[in-house]
Amino acid sequence: MLPLPEIKIPIIPIPLENSSVSLYIKREDEVHKAISGNKYWKLFYNVNQYLELTPTEPMLISFGGAYSNHIAALAALGKDFGIQTLGIIRGEELEERWAENPTLRLAAECGMQFCFVSRALYRDKESLAESFKNQYPNALIIPEGGTNLQAVEGVKYMLNADTQDFDYICTAVGTGGTVAGLSKFAECHQQVLGFKVVKDASLSEVVSRLSRRENITLFEASYGGYGKVSDEVIGFINAFQRRYQILLDPIYTGKMMMKLLELIEAGYFPKGSKILAFHTGGLQGILGANQMLKQQNRPCIDII
Ligand SMILES: *Cc1c(COP(=O)(O)O)cnc(C)c1O
Repeated sequence: MLPLPEIKIPIIPIPLENSSVSLYIKREDEVHKAISGNKYWKLFYNVNQYLELTPTEPMLISFGGAYSNHIAALAALGKDFGIQTLGIIRGEELEERWAENPTLRLAAECGMQFCFVSRALYRDKESLAESFKNQYPNALIIPEGGTNLQAVEGVKYMLNADTQDFDYICTAVGTGGTVAGLSKFAECHQQVLGFKVVKDASLSEVVSRLSRRENITLFEASYGGYGKVSDEVIGFINAFQRRYQILLDPIYTGKMMMKLLELIEAGYFPKGSKILAFHTGGLQGILGANQMLKQQNRPCIDII
């Protein structure tokens, strides 16, 4: 069973020059060294409820791209708790080359097995899920990115007495489960800001269906598209780390923080606002991003 962590997740100030607002970051990435950030909480009820019902030979199956934080987290969970895991990975070309990919290599070291599928097959996840359910009737099949109602419920643990005073709470948005959970469990006076790193027109509908509240504003923060990492984003992450000694990831938290600082700079927030941004993890993805950047002879993310 995934335990409730004993550590207190720190909230760190991010001092801004000449600003009328105050900014803090909650280091949710520190919740577990390998089941990092929001993925821990999204898996929490899904896995625990399943393990209660399936005490013998449990198996977890899920979907993801080759650099997926969700796949990395699921594999690590499988290793820690001795549960068999299977990752359905987008891209059949990876069948021969998966060991070159740092995320998949680490997942394999955790004991995860893979099934590589073409992009066309991957798109039809409902049929895929059904065929795996037939093959492994006892297994728990978790959706891509881990987003479902139980995932949204688990996100409540990201909020606690320490987060109640903030006026704004901010997170990067991929499949929308995390922002929906923050919205569902936020205090009445709090506004939830979601920074979309994926260009997906259906997101706002998905999110409001999961949260059923009207306290969310979504911002476009994909900076060229999901998984695309511009030199500008790399430069921002490196400068942020030099200044605040906090490493952000290039796919989610780096883009969120870049857009958030742009909004602060543009005067979006009323004077005196207290803003909390979540560091949702994703740092395992830096290895893969740097590998790609190096191949393209581009600047990399400094790992200090
Ligand atoms: C998966 C992920 C997100 C997005 O979470 P969703 O619930 O899919 O919106 C944000 N940040 C990081 C680091 C992630 O790995």
